[in-house]
Amino acid sequence: MATADVVKPDFATERKHFIFTDEHDQLRESIRRFVIKELAPHADEWEEKTFPDSVFTRMGELGFLGLDKPEAYGGQGGDYYTSLVLAEEMAHAHCGGLAMGIAVQTDMAMPPILAFGTEEQKQEWAAPAIAGQKILSLGITEPDAGSDVAGIKTRAVKDGDDYIINGSKTYITNGHRAHAIVLVAKTDPDAGHGGITLFLVPMDLPGVIREKRLKKLGMHASDTALLAFQDVRVPASAVLGQIGKGFYHISWELQGERLIGAAGCVAGAQHVFDRTLQYAKERKAFGREIGHFQVIRHKFAEMATKIETARQMVYTTAWRFQNGEYPVREITMAKVYAARISVEVADECIQIHGGAGYMQEYGIERSWRDLRLNRIGAGTDEIMLDVIGRSYGL
Ligand SMILES: Cc1cc2nc3c(=O)[nH]c(=O)nc-3n(C[C@H](O)[C@H](O)[C@H](O)COP(=O)(O)OP(=O)(O)OC[C@H]3O[C@@H](n4cnc5c(N)ncnc54)[C@H](O)[C@@H]3O)c2cc1C
Repeated sequence: MATADVVKPDFATERKHFIFTDEHDQLRESIRRFVIKELAPHADEWEEKTFPDSVFTRMGELGFLGLDKPEAYGGQGGDYYTSLVLAEEMAHAHCGGLAMGIAVQTDMAMPPILAFGTEEQKQEWAAPAIAGQKILSLGITEPDAGSDVAGIKTRAVKDGDDYIINGSKTYITNGHRAHAIVLVAKTDPDAGHGGITLFLVPMDLPGVIREKRLKKLGMHASDTALLAFQDVRVPASAVLGQIGKGFYHISWELQGERLIGAAGCVAGAQHVFDRTLQYAKERKAFGREIGHFQVIRHKFAEMATKIETARQMVYTTAWRFQNGEYPVREITMAKVYAARISVEVADECIQIHGGAGYMQEYGIERSWRDLRLNRIGAGTDEIMLDVIGRSYGL
């Protein structure tokens, strides 16, 4: 074979995945520039104080909060992949709490308003949320019920034309800063899954109490609230979607939340991998770079293979989602797999850093702490496996 015929592996080539177009690449480039220039430099400060509300305003101005949202409400009208690109690029801020606070706005609280809300609700809440002028949160979890959504106790009782809401929600991201909450409440406690309804509740109503700012293992840049609702009176127009269909509405919402979460896990794992690769090429022990020890080289090979597998699951599942399928099994698989491997990768990266991995100044331990949430939030590993198992009729 002549030399010219030798096909060499193109390890260094940036490969475009088939779901992305040149427009997606340009969007990726512009989000990355923004994240690295305007967000990443503040990551350490925001770990201490949480990120400021002005991030929403700025990202709203730039159009980043409505990439895949309808133009009628100020969005960019892009496809689902544009939201995926945002979730991936937010990893470059190295600030998991920030990425989560933004994802709650764009991919957790906003989708049910746009999918099930009235025109009035969309104008009042979705449009200003896309513009970054109003901040949203989502309230499912309660002190006595998380995985078991049907076990929630928050009640909304009809009183004339109004509803009176009583109950408590916990671990609510954006809960301290939010202007409104998409709230899951029981309207008929005897009706099981059919007795749950969503409400869109302004947070400045009398009886809404932001009880406690919760301290946590990671995601320090986000605010996490314990909320109480004491005789909160809302008009019937606060019902979001259909009465008694809240369980199904929120089950639908969770699919988008899980897929975006999985994309964030892959990006977070890639980010900590890249930093660690650089370290392994520079750090020397016993006279050579540690990355050249076979055992370390194999750690990178294992990590890269896991990340790539998770990435392909996320992209293929996103392709199904974008093309009108409702691939709950695949979303669940992508979520549990990406969450698990992201934690495994971050843990291995701490190991490769040695003592430096344990020190705050290298930021590797932050990646581990932040990524660890993903095995719990948006549905635990155990619940994900149960959903997958049940999908086979078990
Ligand atoms: C930082 C952070 C931010 C969050 N943000 C929000 C938010 O914005 N909005 C919101 O509504 N929630 C939020 N959550 C809550 C999160 O979604 C829940 O913590 C999660 O769904 C698990 O619920 P739980 O904590 O009540 O655990 P539990 O449901 O009490 O579960 C405890 C353990 O039991 C296991 N378990 C439960 N049921 C089963 C079963 N059937 N089979 C096998 N094992 C089972 C679980 O897997 C877990 O290991 C957040 C949580 C955190 C930590």
